[in-house]
Amino acid sequence: MRRAIACVAYAWVVAVGAMPSAAQEREAVVLSGGYVLSFDPAVGDLRQGDILVRGGVIAEIAPRIEAPGATRVDLAGKLVLPGLIDTHTHLWTSSMKGRFQNTPQSAYFAVKAHLGRHFTPEDVRIATYYGAVETLASGVTTTVDLFHNNRGAEFFEASRQALVDSGLRARLLFGAHDDTPPDETADLERLGTLAAEWRDSRVTLGFGWRGTGTGSEQLLATGRTELAAVRTLGLPIAVHASGETVAPLAASGLLGPDVQIIHATGASPEELRIFAEAGASLALTPVTEQRVGYGVIALRDLEPMERIGLGIDGPGLAGAADLFANIRLLALNEAGASGEEGAVSPRRILELATRDAARAIGMDDEIGSLAPGKRADIIAIDLQALGMAPLPDGDPAALVVYSAQPADVDLVMVDGEIRNRDGQLLGVDVPRILGDVERSIRGVADRAGGWPAVRD
Ligand SMILES: [Zn+2]
Repeated sequence: MRRAIACVAYAWVVAVGAMPSAAQEREAVVLSGGYVLSFDPAVGDLRQGDILVRGGVIAEIAPRIEAPGATRVDLAGKLVLPGLIDTHTHLWTSSMKGRFQNTPQSAYFAVKAHLGRHFTPEDVRIATYYGAVETLASGVTTTVDLFHNNRGAEFFEASRQALVDSGLRARLLFGAHDDTPPDETADLERLGTLAAEWRDSRVTLGFGWRGTGTGSEQLLATGRTELAAVRTLGLPIAVHASGETVAPLAASGLLGPDVQIIHATGASPEELRIFAEAGASLALTPVTEQRVGYGVIALRDLEPMERIGLGIDGPGLAGAADLFANIRLLALNEAGASGEEGAVSPRRILELATRDAARAIGMDDEIGSLAPGKRADIIAIDLQALGMAPLPDGDPAALVVYSAQPADVDLVMVDGEIRNRDGQLLGVDVPRILGDVERSIRGVADRAGGWPAVRD
């Protein structure tokens, strides 16, 4: 079942393979002297290791690498690991951070629907860029961004451009917006054109499917049409399901190894078996699942699912682009729900944000672990930071799971390019971004007739 996903990824690589790569021109870099957690069985962990990066790719990992001419970046006292992978987000909602409250009129879904229809393409660009750079600074190097405010070609282009500008590796999912009637498909002609013309290998294309709702025949028929077209294009698919939308999705007959199911909270063992037999993967977003009351999910209840990754589900709703918070919450849920402190190892939890997350989105040939030949998506966490600890003799994964936070991220490299160094985003004007966000969201609210809580 994994083979089909690998084929999709391979076809994509071939399609972009002829493009000149800026990374090939880049100088070689040695990330030197850090404690390396590779998440690759052949490489293992190195208490002190060097990583040679050339042309955007990991060329070598060894205790000491002499590479004349290469720039040496000293990472002594840092923990070095694969860039974290956020398997599900909605970056366009980032500018609404702090606007979701806890009444029916001011809660997430109401505010998103109310304000979303008043976004312009420029509002989408500003919010997506804001969310993307926050995500990047927090140690995430890859995100899967389901753009569900796709009100036309300029909106999607604004979203794509923001991701390209941010430096993140991303899969951008072409989705329908909240006001799309159930019998209306997404703009499949536009999607076909995008797929044919797409040339970026760092920001790639996928499809955000609305699913089948609580059992709508119209949505099911629309989904059949959409997925037939999307599968012709070989694009990966993602779909939300939770509570009463799980059963109709399981019965839809439309699942496959190219489908990522988001949440699956409330799924019965039988529904999970159907998902697993179809080869679908899961995206878990513990912070937002609990934020909106979907429920608490535990790994031991997901037994049949082989491909699982963690996600942020939008910095706006999650409160922060903080995958560490999701990592920690999942670890706490496992122990809390089972009554056993040792219910799950920190290493297992971290895999869901690295190696397993890559597998869940069909990108494990490229990312998710540190090994020669993999894309150079690498982060370093500062063990000397206040709140962290010098290297323990035990498993440093525990330190990441229970102690690390975005501010401890010292270095972020994506595709061989350093985007964050000494905890600072390079080439990013944060005060300007925040000013843009404030102006943008005020404009949206003005056009919408005010904030929902005030208006109602
Ligand atoms: Zn979502």
